[in-house]
Amino acid sequence: MLEQKPTQAVTFPPRDGDRYKVRTGDSWGSIAKANDLDTWALIEYNFPVVKSVADFQAKCKMVNWLLRNHVGCTKSSDGKNYRFDSSDTPGYIYIPLFNVQPTFTHRVGLHFCSLTTTNVPFNTAFRNAQRVYAQYGIRIDFQSGRSLGLPEDEANRLAVVNGSCEWEITSGEFNDVQRLVGGLPSTEILVCYVKEFSASLLGCGGHAPNKPACIVAAAGSGWTTAHEVGHVLLGKNFSPVHATDTTNLMYKTTLGITSNPPQLTTAQVEQIKKSSCCVKL
Ligand SMILES: [Zn+2]
Repeated sequence: MLEQKPTQAVTFPPRDGDRYKVRTGDSWGSIAKANDLDTWALIEYNFPVVKSVADFQAKCKMVNWLLRNHVGCTKSSDGKNYRFDSSDTPGYIYIPLFNVQPTFTHRVGLHFCSLTTTNVPFNTAFRNAQRVYAQYGIRIDFQSGRSLGLPEDEANRLAVVNGSCEWEITSGEFNDVQRLVGGLPSTEILVCYVKEFSASLLGCGGHAPNKPACIVAAAGSGWTTAHEVGHVLLGKNFSPVHATDTTNLMYKTTLGITSNPPQLTTAQVEQIKKSSCCVKL
């Protein structure tokens, strides 16, 4: 195997990042692609010691050495480089959110409650929200999360949330859902996942005064959570409520969003940063 021990001190694992167990068939490229990352950004995030190595051959040899010593790789397809295998022990690499760590100037705290399982895994929806807002220096923080085991009659009643989505919600089933979790700070946003709405909606950003919250349906797209949070942050007076550009997060139907991650306009970002839920760091 082509291996070379790095001369500088190695730090592994990286401080943050999602721990990922490698499997047979994975490659740095496939894992990077699945997470919208650049392949070398992913490798260097795991093994920052190779970042400053200019000689590409040496760099690749060091990655092999690091894979054997820190990820436990032993298998190879070409006899020169290690490949990932399900039997690698411990077999963990770490996945960052971004190719380049952004500089954050603001934060938005989110609380989650769930009455259902969603089509899009929660981690994807949350990660997507982090990626969208990070482009503008806004960090999305997970404050709390709970799955609500409701009594059966209550669960049945709220299985389909009746009513219409209004900016100000003070009664009805939309309000009932948002009241399932109480006592949250008025500067943090509650996101509730429900099975479906009686109206043809994937989400609603309306809420009671000073109780910032939004509701997302199980069939929501990977961007619906970020979009509904966007409505809460933009507030009821921002116009236009929806964008006509399919690359914008606030495009009217989140299933039709075409860019990854979607963007916000300067006016939207300015308004969002004025929200009491978008706190300056
Ligand atoms: Zn909307």
